[in-house]
Amino acid sequence: MICACVGAETAEQALSEMAEARRQGADLCELRADYLRDPELPRILSAKPLPVLVTVRPKWEGGRFEGSETDRLGLLEDACLHGADYVDVEYRAYKDFSRRQAKLVLSYHDFEKVPDDLERTAGKMGELEPLVVKVACRARGTADLLRLARLQKGAPRPTAVIGMGEFGEPLRVLSRRYGGFLTYASVRGGSETAPGQVTVEDLVRLYQGKTIDDETSAYGVIGDPVAHSRGPLLFNDVFKRLGMNARYVRIRVDDAALLRDLVEVLELRGLSVTIPHKRAVMAAFDEADEIAQGIGAANTLVVRDGKLFGHNTDILAAVEALKEAAVRKWSHGIYGLRALVLGAGGVSRAVAWGLKREAARVTIANRTFERGKALAEELGVECVRWHDLLSARPQIVVNGTSVGMAPQADASPVDASLFGKDMVAMDTVYTPRETRFLKDAAARGALAIDGVEMFLRQANHQFKLWTGRAIPTEIYKEWMKKL
Ligand code: NAP
Repeated sequence: MICACVGAETAEQALSEMAEARRQGADLCELRADYLRDPELPRILSAKPLPVLVTVRPKWEGGRFEGSETDRLGLLEDACLHGADYVDVEYRAYKDFSRRQAKLVLSYHDFEKVPDDLERTAGKMGELEPLVVKVACRARGTADLLRLARLQKGAPRPTAVIGMGEFGEPLRVLSRRYGGFLTYASVRGGSETAPGQVTVEDLVRLYQGKTIDDETSAYGVIGDPVAHSRGPLLFNDVFKRLGMNARYVRIRVDDAALLRDLVEVLELRGLSVTIPHKRAVMAAFDEADEIAQGIGAANTLVVRDGKLFGHNTDILAAVEALKEAAVRKWSHGIYGLRALVLGAGGVSRAVAWGLKREAARVTIANRTFERGKALAEELGVECVRWHDLLSARPQIVVNGTSVGMAPQADASPVDASLFGKDMVAMDTVYTPRETRFLKDAAARGALAIDGVEMFLRQANHQFKLWTGRAIPTEIYKEWMKKL
């Protein structure tokens, strides 16, 4: 169930938020009576558009209620009297009282950490036989997410384990996949009543949360950060339109050494891998394809029969896009062409490696010369100084630096005079799509390839590796326009 959290100060606001939550597709609302200035519970409950879970969270458990425990209990009893469907009672202050028809959610919160004795506490909570045991703790890293997910999966009775904060997001989104009784969501961004809440809208529309079940195949992107990832938008849309019971979530990972545990506990079928884990994940694979092995980095994980396979679709995508552009421009591939790769980070390394494999004549230029030189030596390619780019006389120029990426100003890493008519220019930056680098290149007659093309191509290869089929052309073309 998707439970929308309503933290409003007046009865009018509360009712309007509840109506909005219903419109968005929530199954029930948590009414945070501790947020109300004047808790008109009878009025709110008599007009409730959805089943209501009433909570009066005290200050000592992270809420706003500052009155006495007698008053707090009085409010909860009042809520039950006036038709609350569920009441939330904190385990630390549990007292039995007349709940009438209202069902008991027994809760435990820790806004700082996942405490050492959490599993024991959850067991003791179960002994009180509430309808639902709710445990909400801040996940401070991947190890915490794993503990919370294990607790959820092993729960012997209806339980909702919530991972607060960004590390806990996969458990919030895929709660039902792991047996969660309910998951909490905010009515709109900015109105969260706990850190890391996803919106009802995202849970319902983006993640199709109402049809997640224990058969749902879980995929995702691991990295740090991952908040900016466009993967969920793309892959969840493709899964939905192909009628596949699969979801793709953002998984912030702070320790790549936990990859195997993560795959096992979250029962993942495949992953995209992004910064800073592309190299570190190699150690966890049972097998890696020739490209991933050659470059020592992977951006894709496929799980098959319990084994982990690594691939690098970034390189496939970049090379494929450049090859096609070369055919359009010169009616032949990239063999023997002079290619200048700007930057010496992970992306430049991948592109330079891929181009060299295709027998292009690669030169690297990096702002910090020593870093560029080290990479050029490692790959066995040329290197030029940043102020001497023209000496490379490039036919292909690839921007692998982060210059031009939003929210930076409309900047290019190079002067427009570098570009000419007989040239292909590719930017790996894809936010914004039309960078200064590409605008300058196109204005001087070069064939320009944007970062969205590379992103979509690598995503399509990932989709094929995970599911055995390509993203259908019409959907692919739509996303090419949308991103
Ligand atoms: P990275 O490892 O952090 O490397 C950044 C590079 O940019 C370094 O070589 C750095 O030079 C250079 N740089 C930064 N600021 C500069 C400036 N003001 N002038 C000149 N050079 C500058 O980053 P990465 O992981 O390789 O990613 C690079 C870009 O690729 C990002 O913008 C990312 O969005 C994009 N990307 C695209 C795709 C796709 O599918 N299209 C996939 C992944 C990444 P120094 O060594 O001197 O610091």
